[in-house]
Amino acid sequence: MIVAVLSGKGGAGKTFAAVNLAVAAEKAVYIDCDVEEPNGRLFWRPQGVRERAVTTALPFFDPEKCTGCRACVDFCRFNALVYVKKAPMVFPEVCHACGGCALVCPAGAVGEQYREVGTLEEGDRGAVHVVTGVLRTGEVSAVPVIRAALEAGLSRREALTVIDSPPGSGCPVMESVREADFCLLVGEPTAFGLHNLAMVHDLCRLLGKPCGLVVNRETAPYAPLEDYCAREHLPILLRIPYRLQLARWGAEGVIAGEKDPEWKADFARLLRQMGGGAI
Ligand code: SF4
Ligand code: SF4
Repeated sequence: MIVAVLSGKGGAGKTFAAVNLAVAAEKAVYIDCDVEEPNGRLFWRPQGVRERAVTTALPFFDPEKCTGCRACVDFCRFNALVYVKKAPMVFPEVCHACGGCALVCPAGAVGEQYREVGTLEEGDRGAVHVVTGVLRTGEVSAVPVIRAALEAGLSRREALTVIDSPPGSGCPVMESVREADFCLLVGEPTAFGLHNLAMVHDLCRLLGKPCGLVVNRETAPYAPLEDYCAREHLPILLRIPYRLQLARWGAEGVIAGEKDPEWKADFARLLRQMGGGAI
């Protein structure tokens, strides 16, 4: 089973839920797709980490062949090309490597080179294989690094794969949930939390994914969130109370399920509710 753990906003407790799910399963693959801020490795501290570069294609322009027609510049929807000094020039950080400029060039003047956009780290903590995508600072698109992380993690075909998705509800999130069998949403019982939760819930429904909710840092049931879940048929699978001890463990990079068997049992129950009973 592939479970994507999502939250409409950063800091909602997504990584807490994702690492504890993997601990509850005992044997799992954990993929950190929150590539702009991959925090999962701070909890796992994986051993034997191998690192490799993630590259993406980047066009280059042959001045001998280029006729200056500007078809490539007009085509690029990402505004990654400008025409200066009688030649197209590419802004690498904005280029989405779609390859369109090479296709439309009538002179065959566009070639392809590769550039590094991030790194992939793979290591192990006990029976959990940890894959971490790290986006290079300044890069606009996280998608190539997310794809590389998913490819590496999913190729292991483990009984449980937990995907720690990026925050928000944009393209990187879509990419990270595409292969998921279940979307586990993590939300906070606040107006802001609910607003962001509803956005990412909409996205998951659009993709036809079954969803469930973990309410994090709950002091008391928050009526607007309870109403939303009832109205939108979003089952609340786990409620995590607001506890100083959990905050301390989070700050120290301690995994609650490894420290306290009750938390491990709670997350094992959560796995079974999502359909991972055989794990
Ligand atoms: S590869 Fe695509 S995004 Fe990049 S410069 Fe060419 S058309 Fe633009
Ligand atoms: S489409 Fe080809 S020939 Fe035209 S400006 Fe671009 S690189 Fe040059």
